[in-house]
Amino acid sequence: SSLRPVRGGVVGTAAPVVATAEGDDGRRFGQLAAPSGLVDELVEEALVWCSQHGLVVGDKNHPRSGKAPGVGLLHAPFALLPMSFPKVYWEQALELAPLFNELVHRVSLDGDFLQQTLARTKEVDPFTRRLLDIHSKMMELNKKEDIQLGLTRSDYMVDGATDKLLQVELNTISTSSNGLACGVSELHRNLIRHHERELGLDPASVVGNTAITQHAEALATAWAEYNNQSAVVLVVVQAEERYMYDQYWITVALREMTIRKTMAEIEAEGDLRPDGTLVINGRPVAVVYFRAGYSPADYPSEAEWRARLLIERSSSIKCPSIAHHLVGTKKIQQELAKEKVLERFLDNKSDIENVRKCFAGLWSLETDNIVNSAIESPELFVLKPQREGGGNNIYGDNLRETLIRLRKDGSNEIAAYILMQRIFPPTSPSYLVREGTFVRDNVVSEFGIFGAYLRNKDKVIINDQCGYLLRTKAASLNEGRLSTGYAPDPYVVLT
Ligand code: ADP
Ligand code: MG
Ligand code: MG
Repeated sequence: SSLRPVRGGVVGTAAPVVATAEGDDGRRFGQLAAPSGLVDELVEEALVWCSQHGLVVGDKNHPRSGKAPGVGLLHAPFALLPMSFPKVYWEQALELAPLFNELVHRVSLDGDFLQQTLARTKEVDPFTRRLLDIHSKMMELNKKEDIQLGLTRSDYMVDGATDKLLQVELNTISTSSNGLACGVSELHRNLIRHHERELGLDPASVVGNTAITQHAEALATAWAEYNNQSAVVLVVVQAEERYMYDQYWITVALREMTIRKTMAEIEAEGDLRPDGTLVINGRPVAVVYFRAGYSPADYPSEAEWRARLLIERSSSIKCPSIAHHLVGTKKIQQELAKEKVLERFLDNKSDIENVRKCFAGLWSLETDNIVNSAIESPELFVLKPQREGGGNNIYGDNLRETLIRLRKDGSNEIAAYILMQRIFPPTSPSYLVREGTFVRDNVVSEFGIFGAYLRNKDKVIINDQCGYLLRTKAASLNEGRLSTGYAPDPYVVLT
């Protein structure tokens, strides 16, 4: 067989089979078992399926793989078979999706809350400062966004100690992997259909994934609300993007409506008409769909910041608006977890209860005794800066040293971070397939539910869950590479 030790981060996507709580036989999160004689054959079949169905990413070993489509392709990393996933958590996460969508919107309307909560972060984090500057310019202009489109993803892990579904974070910009996640669910369904008897599984038990159809529909409906037949959906992309095929699933679904541009291109080619219409190459832009712009690396020069401001000043529908983007920061997540803060934004008592139930422990570093606890037991915490895209968090010894240094300096830099309770999900064995070979390893999973929210003034047009993403990684990564906090996981470019 092609067994090899885990090199670097093995992260795969899996499709879930929803197991009922009653059917719980101790394999609640287990990847479904494959007879060992069948594994090689299944892996080969899966690799062929990926190649023939676009379940691919750019190969980092190929110099042009992120720049042009069709060169240097590699199958996306995946778990060989679906995971069983307890129904109670699934349903809980589905129920939460529209609540978080509404919460994001309500918080986004409170400009002062965003500015004040991020005020100290702004002093020490130049990236957050630039975003806040654009936001305060819009506040000064009293800019109103009549039509708001949010394509979100709320990520969760199950805490093994308490059996609670806890939110890892809420993404409001560039929520990715909707395409790959749909592909993996199809892959698993096909494998199971083909080997139904040997595997003893029903292919229909693999939960279908609607992420692409629903996100594409939300974009198309927003486009229709903008009400200009000649307008386009502008997809904002990075100049180099090895995950372009994930994005193409959605742009292909909207084909004739979309154009892809980098921030630099938008700056060079974009214009605002006096009525606020954003025009690119003569085409008015109905919707700006960001699949870039969430990280400092996306703004290598002032040109990109000018593009972001141009977009924000325009009458195009922004997915997300600058306010929706800011609501997704870790600092806002931490503030919302404070006592009595949710009550400012949600009315219904049971909604507030349900949202609060999924909050893990979250603290600012101004709380002295929690910093002491984290220095004492760093393995129980995660230290997070205001960043997106994976690979930015600090764990273990590195966490302790960082806190000690920040405290000694007495610097304001502590305001750049938040502390979070470390979640320890249950582990289970799984086959992870990457770069054409598989490893059997103990894994943990993170479960995301996509959401869509579209409103035009007082009318909520869409507020729904939109399919799922189940990511699986070797459990050893928690103590190994990830715990050192360096090197972004090569496959978690997800926001
Ligand atoms: P990003 O916006 O960069 O994706 P996340 O908050 O999702 O930031 O953190 C990145 C990864 O770190 C997550 O996908 C998860 O694997 C891990 N992680 C984050 N928070 C926790 C936590 N509280 N406990 C355990 N792991 C976590
Ligand atoms: Mg994120
Ligand atoms: Mg994340």
